[in-house]
Amino acid sequence: MEVQILEADYLVIGSGAMGMAFVDTLLTETDATIIMVDMHGKPGGHWNNAYPFVTLHQPSNFYGVGSKELSKGRKDEIGLNIGLNELASGAEVSAYFDEVMNHHFLTSGRVQYFPMCKYTGNNQFTSLTSEQTFSVKVNKRLVDATYLNTSVPSTHKPNFTMADDIDFIALNDLPRVAKAPEQYVVVGGGKTGIDACLWLLEKQVNPDNISWVMPRDAWLMDRRNTQPTQEFFFDTIGAQANQMEALAQASSVSDLFNKLESTGVLVRLDTQIEPEMYHGATISQQELTQLRRIKHVIRQGRVTHLAKGEITLEQGSQEVAENALFIDCSASAIGDRKSLPVFNDDKITLQTIRIIQPVFSAALIAHIEAAYENDHQKNALSQVVPLPNKSTDWLTVNAAFMKNQYIWSQDKSLQKWLYFNRLDGFSKMVADVSPNDEDKQALLKRLRGNVPKAMENMMRLIASLETKEKELSHV
Ligand SMILES: Cc1cc2nc3c(=O)[nH]c(=O)nc-3n(C[C@H](O)[C@H](O)[C@H](O)COP(=O)(O)OP(=O)(O)OC[C@H]3O[C@@H](n4cnc5c(N)ncnc54)[C@H](O)[C@@H]3O)c2cc1C
Repeated sequence: MEVQILEADYLVIGSGAMGMAFVDTLLTETDATIIMVDMHGKPGGHWNNAYPFVTLHQPSNFYGVGSKELSKGRKDEIGLNIGLNELASGAEVSAYFDEVMNHHFLTSGRVQYFPMCKYTGNNQFTSLTSEQTFSVKVNKRLVDATYLNTSVPSTHKPNFTMADDIDFIALNDLPRVAKAPEQYVVVGGGKTGIDACLWLLEKQVNPDNISWVMPRDAWLMDRRNTQPTQEFFFDTIGAQANQMEALAQASSVSDLFNKLESTGVLVRLDTQIEPEMYHGATISQQELTQLRRIKHVIRQGRVTHLAKGEITLEQGSQEVAENALFIDCSASAIGDRKSLPVFNDDKITLQTIRIIQPVFSAALIAHIEAAYENDHQKNALSQVVPLPNKSTDWLTVNAAFMKNQYIWSQDKSLQKWLYFNRLDGFSKMVADVSPNDEDKQALLKRLRGNVPKAMENMMRLIASLETKEKELSHV
């Protein structure tokens, strides 16, 4: 079959949330032509493979693409997120990205979309359904919107072995359970593990019939503190002020986490266990109360083998019921990739430039591409804030995030862009405070007043971490 030749200003690999947010901003702010390629049949990336009961874990108000609202402006009136801004379901997120593609991108006449196609390198891609190969003449840049490498339960391969005769399912199949097993074993302590446990508890499963394999405990954010609407100002900005104060005053890294916990910035499942993980997941107090009903939490490292009646782990083994149902929640949504410069000659690699905010980051990178002159200037505004993994990453990613915030705050036109961008969430909330609102102004004063000391102390705490890591590597 002859290779078909195409031409566009940008060739974007991946129509997941990041690719979509990037293209949306580029369409709004330039007259560029764009080709989007994705192996999935629909936009939305991993949301195509999501489990049926998944929701966002941040309010819908600041997820999606910049030009189109995802939230319906409601708060949840039922369920474990009650009283907080709504969390779109996976189906809603998928439908939203479909709508953005079909009624905005494609109707603009400037976007060509190639679903079911695999990018193979050198500006070429091949259709998975027809084997037709396309070669693109790219006038401006190739954009890699696949770099975060999100992994989800239904498409991931577990990194442990298992006997053939056990009942083992991906989280996606949980709603298909037709006969209750004696015991449910949830494998994985991250956000999907949390979702599996909450789903079982909401479906009246007795908490004593749930065993939860938790290789690492996590620090979690109280979702009440991530609400980008004025009625939650004192929660959201209050938590930021508490965080800044803790950073300014902490005498050591462990003192920092004590302060973050005692002021409600971070929470954990069990206050007796020192968390080793931080992935930026959020949780409501109601969800936390539910999860604490599960008493059989297995903390013996990662699973190495599953068999009928037994789990083998890195640090021991556990007996389980013969007919136990194992639920795989061991995919780590967070890929393990080293940071690259975002702008590099003819390529843009989309990465997070604000703490755990992939869609905001992709939109801002598109704005920087459109509005600034050269790659040196563009990269200075787009320093990567890596996705956190271990608990102490909380500190290093916050340092990187604060550095970017400072750089952005020196640029008046960028400040204006942030104010009007729906994916930003918080700039508008702060900028809209009336000078006469004494309580809010006092809170902002406390937040800003601690910034210089926090920056200085953060560097000291990070240096102490590095010294400790060096010492450990010599043992
Ligand atoms: C359960 C869950 C809940 C989440 N909730 C939130 C939340 O509330 N807020 C938040 O900010 N983030 C959340 N996230 C993080 C989430 O990963 C990001 O928000 C975002 O969806 C990631 O998008 P992406 O475009 O980087 O990746 P993906 O969704 O993985 O998209 C990448 C796309 O690239 C395509 N691709 C890869 N290689 C190729 C190739 N060679 N050729 C063609 N196409 C290719 C893939 O098919 C895929 O469609 C959540 C993640 C999970 C798993």
